[in-house]
Amino acid sequence: MRLLVIGSGGREHALVWKLAQSPHVTQMWCAPGNAGIAEERLTGNQAPVECVNIGAEALSKLLAFARDKRPDLTIVGPDNPLALGIVDLFQKNGVRIWGPNQKAAQFESSKVFSQVFMERHGIPTARAGTFSDARAAKDFTASLNGRCAVKADGLALGKGVLICDSVAEADKAIEDILVTKAFGAAGERVVIQEFLEGIEISLHALCDGKTAKLFPTAQDHKRALDGDQGLNTGGMGTYSPAPFLTDHQLADVGKRILEPWVAGCAAEGIDFRGILYPGVMLTKDGPKVLEFNARFGDPEAQVYLTRLEGDLVELLEASVNGTLDRHELKWSLMASVCVVIASGGYPGSYAKGKPISGLSEAARLPNVKVFHAGTARSGDTVATNGGRVLGVTALGADLWKARAAAYEAVEKIRFEGAHFRRDIGVKALR
Ligand code: AMP
Repeated sequence: MRLLVIGSGGREHALVWKLAQSPHVTQMWCAPGNAGIAEERLTGNQAPVECVNIGAEALSKLLAFARDKRPDLTIVGPDNPLALGIVDLFQKNGVRIWGPNQKAAQFESSKVFSQVFMERHGIPTARAGTFSDARAAKDFTASLNGRCAVKADGLALGKGVLICDSVAEADKAIEDILVTKAFGAAGERVVIQEFLEGIEISLHALCDGKTAKLFPTAQDHKRALDGDQGLNTGGMGTYSPAPFLTDHQLADVGKRILEPWVAGCAAEGIDFRGILYPGVMLTKDGPKVLEFNARFGDPEAQVYLTRLEGDLVELLEASVNGTLDRHELKWSLMASVCVVIASGGYPGSYAKGKPISGLSEAARLPNVKVFHAGTARSGDTVATNGGRVLGVTALGADLWKARAAAYEAVEKIRFEGAHFRRDIGVKALR
């Protein structure tokens, strides 16, 4: 089989790495990819993965490339091309593609759509309201004493959620989004949720339009600095499994969320084939969904795909074909930890082009895989090319051992301004 993978982050490197292990695969392209993806080879025939210089949002160029090269399956990593309708476009042109179509991708591209869907179909979530009028929004947040999450409806580069602790903060958040339009058209409407306390976990399920197969738990670390301090980021590290639920509890949580979700999709004619990734708060009143994403998390993909056993190509084929009920997801009993190394200044402004050393020393360590995100090759060296630069991922017999292996590898890698969190996985060990 010939595959085209779309995207350039750590998640896409993990997808390429796992797909390249499938004996079905004879050729692979990645658009646009990164320096680490360009170094991958297919296990079957040792062919290199070819990076193609087309951006993940250049839909017509991607379609032209796919029509020319005729991959058997295109795999979409990031949310933006899904929200822009890449799946519908490829399907209309007879090109096979994996990921949710534009209607299904609304679970991520519209917080209002998701909130209303959850309420309509009895999926446990926060008490919430949806507003386009600032006055009505402020009345609602006042009724919550200002303790709330104010969320711009549309995609806002992961920055559209403002957590508020007072009426004054909530008023400002509402003004910023609805009146000043800090997030442009993404902020025509807001969802305001009551503030929920508890432990936050990531769930993922692979879906084929009828069946949703739940993954083990993972936990992300969104803030830039140790102890969950600093600004929100795309994610500074993850680990799996997260030990806050027993297998039995996880199955119960999955059932409470996924059964009404699957039934709701059927009732509303939503054909979701891809990854559903609910962000969930485990509160004292039970699990509550904070939001849905419609693709693999980044860096959740790095820990999930290092634990996934078996052939990812076969699973994605089953997701496209609607035959997931015939497959079982199998997971390594080992724990996986991913530590993100970011550019100095991230998530604010940062420099690019800093040479990276120690990559091959890190790669030689057992059970370690260094996934690239914002990297580019310049001559003989690999240099930084983005905010999140690398996702250093390690497996271990337990979380302690996986953490130790990941941080040993992190210590080998150097570039000017590099920063990473030292406490990835610590919550699980307390
Ligand atoms: P979201 O993109 O909607 O998941 O929100 C981003 C982050 O904001 C989440 O990962 C949570 O840490 C936090 N958050 C979102 N909604 C709530 C809520 N209702 N209560 C508490 N924290 C929240």
